[in-house]
Amino acid sequence: MSVARAAVMVAPGNVEVREFPLSKVPSGGVLLRMNLSGICGTDKHTFRGESKQYAGTDHERDVTYPLICGHENVGVVVETSEDVFASDGRPLRPGDRVVPGANVACGHCYFCLNDYPYYLCANLDDYGNSLHCGIAPYLLGGWAEYMYVLPGTPIFRVPDEVPDEVAVMTEVMAVTHGIEVAQAVLGMFGANRFAHSVAVLGVGPLGLCHLAKAEMLGAAKLIATDLFDSRLALAERFGASVTMNAGRTTLEERVALARDATDGLGPQIVVDCSGKPETFVEALRMVRPGGVVVEAGTFVDMGPVSVNPNIDFCTRNVSVIGIGGETAAAYEPSLQLMAANIDRLPFREIVTHRVPLSQAQTGVEIAMQPSSMQVAVDPWSDAAWSSPLVTKTT
Ligand SMILES: [Zn+2]
Ligand SMILES: [Zn+2]
Repeated sequence: MSVARAAVMVAPGNVEVREFPLSKVPSGGVLLRMNLSGICGTDKHTFRGESKQYAGTDHERDVTYPLICGHENVGVVVETSEDVFASDGRPLRPGDRVVPGANVACGHCYFCLNDYPYYLCANLDDYGNSLHCGIAPYLLGGWAEYMYVLPGTPIFRVPDEVPDEVAVMTEVMAVTHGIEVAQAVLGMFGANRFAHSVAVLGVGPLGLCHLAKAEMLGAAKLIATDLFDSRLALAERFGASVTMNAGRTTLEERVALARDATDGLGPQIVVDCSGKPETFVEALRMVRPGGVVVEAGTFVDMGPVSVNPNIDFCTRNVSVIGIGGETAAAYEPSLQLMAANIDRLPFREIVTHRVPLSQAQTGVEIAMQPSSMQVAVDPWSDAAWSSPLVTKTT
């Protein structure tokens, strides 16, 4: 092997396959042979040219094209430059199946040195986003046959019982740490720390993972909203007992239904995962007084909404938790939780489509369709590619 193929987003709306040289593994780094790489909501924004990321932070930036996307990754270690350790403290060896963290923090800024989530790092780099293919060693996104993992990246060993199509969801699952924070906040105000009612607005992959996390952590009642019935049907299989199609109901009706399902009080935790800013307002209206809203779906600046500080936050004692991404510490427990529940919850069905590198653009387009849930790039499947459109895995 001396070159590797990758799907490159050369400009908004245009993905093509290009070849890149394989070079020496950087000191402290790892070369992975990619098994699967997710097409994330962020990648869909990048494809549409909505490229302003981390707005309002020190590392606000515009995505640079051309770009090898793919930060939700699972692959197998081919080579390490020296001893590189997985998060379990054991050295990585060729053949180990791993999920690399999506971000690389600097380790020396205020946020790194004071134990903030690593996505607050003032010098954050992230695979398939800031780490574009103009930077050596070029293969720094997962939509590729091989990918380099840079020194300082946390790396997580995948339990044997977790198949690739579930392991590829680890980063998304790790974003759900807002559920634990919300439970802790409720506890700080004196409410129960478990058995909460939880509503998730928008049950695409991120919302579904929040629903699954709440279920696994013992939620008593799960409520889901979405525009698409197929997503709501999967949400039911993850434990949602109340589902509402946001295209056929008004905000007032959804708030009323959520209250009806929770003894007239409203859910204690409402997670906004729609990717659209206006559902934040719905979350504030729906949540129980004294409850917690988790804003986890708007990672790209989609504009402001109007809120009322008096009613929405103060007199109703509503806490709002902003979640800017996954924490490094949330990967390992996410893998363990998915492994423990792999036969009980339909994790294998979240990835609905796999596309080869040559069809990555089709994959992004499919990911924007209501019929899909999570689409993943399967970089070694071009040779076996037969369908004129796509391989549907479920
Ligand atoms: Zn993502
Ligand atoms: Zn830092």
